[in-house]
Amino acid sequence: MSSTGKRIPLRQRGERAVRKYTVPALSLVHLLFLPAGRHGDAWARWSSYWAASAFAAVVILLLRDLISSRSENRLPDVPSVLAWAAAGLLEFHALIPAVADSRLVPAVLFPSVAFLLPGLPAAIYSAAASAWLLWSPGSAWPMSAWMPSIAGMAVLGTCAGWAARRRIGRPGAGREMMQEAIKESRSLVLPWEDPFAGRERKLPADIEHLGLLRVREEHMDAVRRTLEGLLPVTGAERIYYVHPSPGPGRPFRVGAAAHRGGEGGDGDLAIPDHFVPLREAMLFRRTFVSEAKDAGSWTVGEAKREERAKGIATAPVVVEGNVEGAILATRFAEGRWTEPVGQMLEMGAYFIAKELEGARQRYQEALHLAKQEGFHRLVRRIAEISEKADGGRQESVSPRGEVYRVAAEQVRRHLDVDRVLLVETAEDGKRGRIAWEAGGTTSRDGEEWVPVEGTYLEWVTRHGVHRIFSDAGTGRGKFPVLPPAWSDDSGEAHLLVPVPGTGGFRGVLACASRRDRNFDGRDAEAVAEILAIMRMGISHALRLETLEKQAECDGLTGLLNRKTFQERLNNVLSRLDGRYACAVIMIDIDHFKKINDTYGHPAGDEVLRKVSSVIRKTVRKVDMAARYGGEEFVLYLHMTDRQHAVQVAERLRLMIRQTRFVFGGKELGVTASLGVACHPAHGRTGEELLGHADISLYRSKESGRDRTSVYLEQ
Ligand code: GH3
Ligand code: MG
Ligand code: MG
Repeated sequence: MSSTGKRIPLRQRGERAVRKYTVPALSLVHLLFLPAGRHGDAWARWSSYWAASAFAAVVILLLRDLISSRSENRLPDVPSVLAWAAAGLLEFHALIPAVADSRLVPAVLFPSVAFLLPGLPAAIYSAAASAWLLWSPGSAWPMSAWMPSIAGMAVLGTCAGWAARRRIGRPGAGREMMQEAIKESRSLVLPWEDPFAGRERKLPADIEHLGLLRVREEHMDAVRRTLEGLLPVTGAERIYYVHPSPGPGRPFRVGAAAHRGGEGGDGDLAIPDHFVPLREAMLFRRTFVSEAKDAGSWTVGEAKREERAKGIATAPVVVEGNVEGAILATRFAEGRWTEPVGQMLEMGAYFIAKELEGARQRYQEALHLAKQEGFHRLVRRIAEISEKADGGRQESVSPRGEVYRVAAEQVRRHLDVDRVLLVETAEDGKRGRIAWEAGGTTSRDGEEWVPVEGTYLEWVTRHGVHRIFSDAGTGRGKFPVLPPAWSDDSGEAHLLVPVPGTGGFRGVLACASRRDRNFDGRDAEAVAEILAIMRMGISHALRLETLEKQAECDGLTGLLNRKTFQERLNNVLSRLDGRYACAVIMIDIDHFKKINDTYGHPAGDEVLRKVSSVIRKTVRKVDMAARYGGEEFVLYLHMTDRQHAVQVAERLRLMIRQTRFVFGGKELGVTASLGVACHPAHGRTGEELLGHADISLYRSKESGRDRTSVYLEQ
């Protein structure tokens, strides 16, 4: 029967249980029958029948086990073979009365059986069995003469049982040890092959460009060349470099292959995990060579090939003391291996190990470069924000908003997550607002402050350390990660990284992934590095915003300056396109010269500041207010008809009138005259509207000041 390409069926649980409990059960029955010989012929006959049939059963089971392990290309399970052999011997000795009476065999075997049991039960079992042997009636030999040696053997047997348990482990442990070895070497698998505990991590697109894949290709090419060099000196037809597969599915993966006479398939070898030649190399670190008939049973190859191998050899590839993989050489032609095949493979394995070390180094360098490149790009994009401010940037997005966007997008790409929330928290840490959301499905008003108290988001802000929440919700406790208003799926995995308060932004960056995703410390580090650049960008943006503000605003009052007002007014009017109402109000303080003359210029400035703060309070967010000239102000009222515009103007006039100023112990008030022009009735361009508002203002002055006039159409 050929085992080529055959997967080992999982052992039945029942079968394992039978093997595990049969021996202790048999030995117990045997103990009961042991003294039977002393109680008459009938009992003795029954006891020998029992012993004979049990012996036969055990031998059959042992053979069956050996045959099946051979057909499955695996080493026989050592503990189970020992167990069957022990049971067989136990029953066999009962057939010979002299030996049976000596109790020599049970004295040695019973404790050995103990190693089939876990620690404490094994000790109790050994002690009980030894005690029974010592004190049970019916021994043909003088008890006193045998006692010391029986006791000694019991102790020896116990030690052997324990030693065997320690060395070999539980039944079926060979398989587990193999898994352990695979797991151990998995941590050393090249990073691009490490799927991070079963999930395939997609490398960020920009890193792929930067030659990581090229490093891998180069590495596998070098391995292939080494394998090709081995073909003629070993006489092998095919040589593979096999390493443990980090992902689920097949236990091994073919990294590179060389075939005599040209091309052949790579990676299509189905190798069972108990495959002895590889097990020898990777678990026991031995070079394995077999030929002729022996080799035939270890045939492995492309599934189609039915021939049996005439030679199989393996050698471990060891890097820094750890087994990384193995070379597997196969030969199908009759004859013998070219001597010394073992040493040749070892030499090849040495070269591959060196190459692996080199590749790992190159990969680290490439990764470092890729990271640097990503950061450079981020810095470049942040630097470009000031250039774009001249026109390229959307008016609705501030330079700071642009930095938030660039940083959040970078995190999203770098970590490949569904959603990134950049949350700004208030001074007290109890409220937060979304400064930027990347990849979210819902649109949220970024201005809205939401209570974050009692969430892990607040905890992270307060403690300044990152927190990871797995998909399963472990460590989530009774607190929500995000405030309910911001979370859209309860099954998400989260990573929260704090943004320290320096640099004009305090808060948390939250990454959320809807898929099964395990964030780790490296992810948090990557985010922290991006956030450090973001903070640089924010202080840059803040400077930029100050400069922009200085260019747009009036220094004394902080209102818009005339030039900016005119520009923005024209922008808005072109968007309204004559279809919607709006109004412009001109405001001029009455007899302002007198204040200057009577109380001095600083007093005049104070009046200007106070009046401008009154005006600022009157306008909504969508409106605009500007200092138009010396003591002239102008207001733009968005989507406001004539009636409402007059109402606003009158309210403003009364408020200015009620404002009190104190100079040199004297209290005084000022009045203002206002002129209103409405869009589209009184003009469609900024120039027309401002001109007409000015005309109506002049009318207010003429008709006695401290009043509001609306432009009169001719
Ligand atoms: P009315 O508008 O009622 O006709 O009289 P007025 O006295 O307000 O008229 P006018 O426009 O002639 O006077 C404006 C004065 O405002 C002239 C100037 O000295 C003063 N002025 C302009 N800019 C400033 C400023 O920034 N600070 C101070 N303190 N005074 C200013
Ligand atoms: Mg005036
Ligand atoms: Mg004036």
